[in-house]
Order: sequence, then C-alpha cells, then structure tokens
Amino acid sequence: MAVRKIITPPNPLLRQPSLKVAEVDDTIRALIADMFDTMYDAPGIGLAAVQIGEPLAVIVMDIHSGDAEKEPRPLALINPEVVWSSDNRVTYQEGCLSVPEIYDEVERPAEVRVRFLDEQGNEQERLFGGLEAICVQHEIDHTKGILFVDHLSRLKREKYLKKVIKRAKQASAA
Ligand SMILES: [Zn+2]
Repeated sequence: MAVRKIITPPNPLLRQPSLKVAEVDDTIRALIADMFDTMYDAPGIGLAAVQIGEPLAVIVMDIHSGDAEKEPRPLALINPEVVWSSDNRVTYQEGCLSVPEIYDEVERPAEVRVRFLDEQGNEQERLFGGLEAICVQHEIDHTKGILFVDHLSRLKREKYLKKVIKRAKQASAA
C-alpha cells in the first residue's frame, strides 16, 4: 500500500474515459488500497483511479475522510454506473484533488442509484443521497474524463484550469 501522486491538468489522462475492469482480482484490490491511502493522505472524500494515473473505472469515497470525530465510511466501487437519478437537484460547493484550491458551486441530481461491482466482484446497487450522492457523481464523472469545472461556464472553466496549470508550473520551477 502506498500514497500515490495525484495528477493535475494538463495531464491528458484526466480527459480520457477509463476502461472497465474485466476481472476484480488482487491487482485491482491493491490499486484500491493505494487509492484509499492517497485519498486519506490528501485528505479528500473521493478519488478515481485515473487521478493516480490508472485509467480504470474504479472509485473510492469516504465522506468522513479528514474528520477524526466521525466513523470512517470507506466505499470502493468498480465499474460504477448511474442507473437512476432524481429530478430534484441540489447545488454544492465542489472541489477536486486534481484541480487543487479551486471551489465552485455545481448543480447535480440530489439522489442517484448506482450499479457497481464490489471488491469481491459481486454486483451491487445502492441509493446515494446527501453528500455521498454529490461525491459519487463527481467520481463517476472522472471515469468519463469529466472534471467538475466542466459543469461551470466556459469562462470559469478556462480561468480555473489556467490557474491550476500556472501554479503547477511555478511549483515545478521553484
Ligand atoms: Zn475530482
């Protein structure tokens, strides 16, 4: 298990749709362990495999990450797919470990039902609400090459991405 490097724009992998996992084996379980380590270290409440440079449809979440007073709620979803979403929508201030220090409001369905494989390779379906619904949709977007800033206006998106790229360049030059 290891904390891995989180990629940021303009890394083209972030724009690439992830491949479905054909078989849930020890390699996938080791990847998930690294993803949890990386997410808790950041800390963040969600991470997609592509964010550590592995374009596979695997996501991990824990909405209590970074909050020592709450019980951990780790969840790993393989090949996650939204099979139903509510008409009721909510707005939430989102951020992303791959788009550091940028936060803005995104509107999404308030509830979603997601089909996925668990770490044993069993098919599961689960209804998500509240912050978990926001988080799971944000992470599933990553498996399609979508970033949360894509839900904003073009002007905002370009401004934010430019800022992230500029900061990364300054950091590597320093
Ligand atoms: Zn993200």
